[in-house]
Amino acid sequence: SLTERLSGIFTQLRGKGRLSEADIDATAREIRLALLEADVALPVVKEFIARVKERARGAEVSQALNPAQQVIKIVHEELVGVLGGEERRLSFAKQPPTVIMLAGLQGAGKTTLAGKLGRWLREQGHTPLLVAADLQRPNAVNQLQIVGERAGVEVYAPQPGNGVGDPIQVAADSIDHAKRVQRDVVVIDTAGRLGVDAEMMAQAASIRDVTSPDEVLFVIDAMIGQDAVATAEAFRDGVGITGVVLSKLDGDARGGAALSVRQVTGQPIMFASTGEKLEDFDVFYPERMASRILGMGDVLTLIEQAEKVFEADQQERMTAKLVGGEQFTLDDFLEQLIAIRRMGPIGNLLSMMPGAGQLKDQIADIDDKHLDRVTAIIRSMTPAERGTPKIINGSRRVRIATGSGTTVTDVNQLLERFTEAQKMMKQMGGMMGLPGRRKATK
Ligand code: GDP
Ligand code: MG
Repeated sequence: SLTERLSGIFTQLRGKGRLSEADIDATAREIRLALLEADVALPVVKEFIARVKERARGAEVSQALNPAQQVIKIVHEELVGVLGGEERRLSFAKQPPTVIMLAGLQGAGKTTLAGKLGRWLREQGHTPLLVAADLQRPNAVNQLQIVGERAGVEVYAPQPGNGVGDPIQVAADSIDHAKRVQRDVVVIDTAGRLGVDAEMMAQAASIRDVTSPDEVLFVIDAMIGQDAVATAEAFRDGVGITGVVLSKLDGDARGGAALSVRQVTGQPIMFASTGEKLEDFDVFYPERMASRILGMGDVLTLIEQAEKVFEADQQERMTAKLVGGEQFTLDDFLEQLIAIRRMGPIGNLLSMMPGAGQLKDQIADIDDKHLDRVTAIIRSMTPAERGTPKIINGSRRVRIATGSGTTVTDVNQLLERFTEAQKMMKQMGGMMGLPGRRKATK
């Protein structure tokens, strides 16, 4: 992963000065690779890297994070900034109906989106109307009707038996219809081609001209990869775009198209489509996309939470123990439990960490009451016992149980738990790429 690769780059720098130019260059190379792997277009990558380098140069080295974590944080913040810049919601017309036109290549997911938007708008208390202005493919009208039915939303379509209708006329008429039957949002589904062509663009532009849409949403398949730039440029210039919808995010695309399209169109990414079902749809979350592009899951969130919770010196001490192979003591265990509890819902937190299943079992059932008991037991031990739990034999266990008002079984359980945690802490030290721990690059 990027974290691992970056961890290999930095020398022991931590908590003082600034990143060296050589470190920054090496880092930039890794980030560039990660972005290209995610299918971000090359010119977009270049511009982005330049910005990140600038920021990394100016950044003080953090007390709480190692340089690799810190750079990742910078990259992540920049990505979120770019992806979420000028974040905004749909604009609704002062005089209904609000007109939302969908544009994009064939197969991008427009018709599906019409249904999703219809359902979503309805849930928000709107009275949407879906309009079948794709008369290119024989089945397109029918497809929209099915989707509309599922969404519980009326579909405006050319009357059957009229021969091939004129999509521009249908679109224009639909606005009058919406006014008549008092629908407050009109969603116009349009035709697409497999590739961009002049006729399709001209038709889309005409539909735009007769309906004066409040929004032209450009729908793009997240799997499109490097073609994202050319496609987005064509629609930007041919129809004009006010917002972007990324579809098929349930696939395994890393989502680099998001960054490319954002950069090319200058318009916000407003929604994300994540499946064929109507409910597989949500507003767009820049945070999630940034993590996805970097291929890092929510490890970033974990870094941030770690940064918040652990005081730097506490972490430093813990790290020295882990890295130096020093014994992880019962005092440390208690400190960790308290710190982890402070981080918030343990289940959420641990599910973000790769391979943390075991640790989760380990801590999941520690509620506040339990924590009090654990605290009492550990406090009833002598410093020698806390530092070297191996010496806690049977008679010591009885003494500790009596002293803490618990049972020998409780003490036994705690010691077992501790032994497990000790193992886990070693693994976690590696996983989190804790500072000072050099890793081999691949
Ligand atoms: P259009 O040509 O732009 O109208 O695209 P459609 O809405 O007809 O979608 C093309 C195909 O992609 C259909 O089979 C949809 O079910 C599918 N599809 C649309 N959106 C998504 C999505 O977010 N995820 C997945 N997996 N499939 C999608
Ligand atoms: Mg369609």
